[in-house]
Amino acid sequence: MHPELSKLLELQDKDHTLATVDTRLQALLDERASLDDELARGRQAVATLEEQVAGAVTQRQALETRIESLRTIQESRRGRMERVKTAREAQALTIELEVARTGLVREESEWLRIADQVTAREIELKQAAEGVAGLEAEQAVQREGLAEREAELQSERAAATAVREDVATHIEQAYLVRYDRLRQVRQTEVVVALHGMACGACYTAVPMSRQSQIRNGQILDGCEACGVILYAADEAG
Ligand SMILES: [Zn+2]
Repeated sequence: MHPELSKLLELQDKDHTLATVDTRLQALLDERASLDDELARGRQAVATLEEQVAGAVTQRQALETRIESLRTIQESRRGRMERVKTAREAQALTIELEVARTGLVREESEWLRIADQVTAREIELKQAAEGVAGLEAEQAVQREGLAEREAELQSERAAATAVREDVATHIEQAYLVRYDRLRQVRQTEVVVALHGMACGACYTAVPMSRQSQIRNGQILDGCEACGVILYAADEAG
C-alpha cells in the first residue's frame, strides 16, 4: 500500500464531513432567506397600501378645496339673486345656479366615492400592517432558532476544518497540492478505487502495467482521463 494513500483517504473523509456541515449551513441560510422574502413581500404590500391611502387622501383633499370654492361661488350667485332687477336677469341666474348645483352634486358624489376608497384602503392597510407585525413576531422565534443552529453549525464547521487541516499537514506536499486542485474542480470523490480494470470515477480502462503498480502500492497515480487519484480497494483496508 502506498504510504500516502491512507492519509489521502482520511483527508477525503474529513472533507466529506466538512462538506456535509456546509450543506446543512447552506440549507439554514436558504431557510433564513425564505423568511426574509416572506417578510419583504408583506412589507412591500404595506408600502403599496400606504401609497394608495396617501394618494386617495390627496385626491379627497383636492376635492374638498374645489367643493369649498364652488360653494362660495354658489353663495355669491344666491346673493346676486336677491339683487336682480329684471325677470330676464333672474331667469339667466336661475339657469346658472342650476348648472352650478349639478356640478357641485357631481363633485360631492365624487368626494364620497374617494372618501369610501380612503376608508377601504385604510382598513386594508391596518390589516396588512397587523399581518406583518404578526409575521415579525412569529419569525422572531424562528430566527432565534436559526441563530442557535447556525452557531452550532459554525462551531461544528470550525472543528471539522481544524481536523481536516491537521490531517492535511501530514500529507506529502505534492500529493496534497494534487488532491486540493482536484477537489476544487470535482464535486465528488477525488481519491477513487479502481473498478475492476477501470477508473472508478469515469470507467476509462487503466493500462495493465499501471494497474499492477497501483495494486502493489508502487504508485499513487491519477486517472489519465479524469485525473482522480486511483487506488486498489483491497489495498485500502
Ligand atoms: Zn477516471
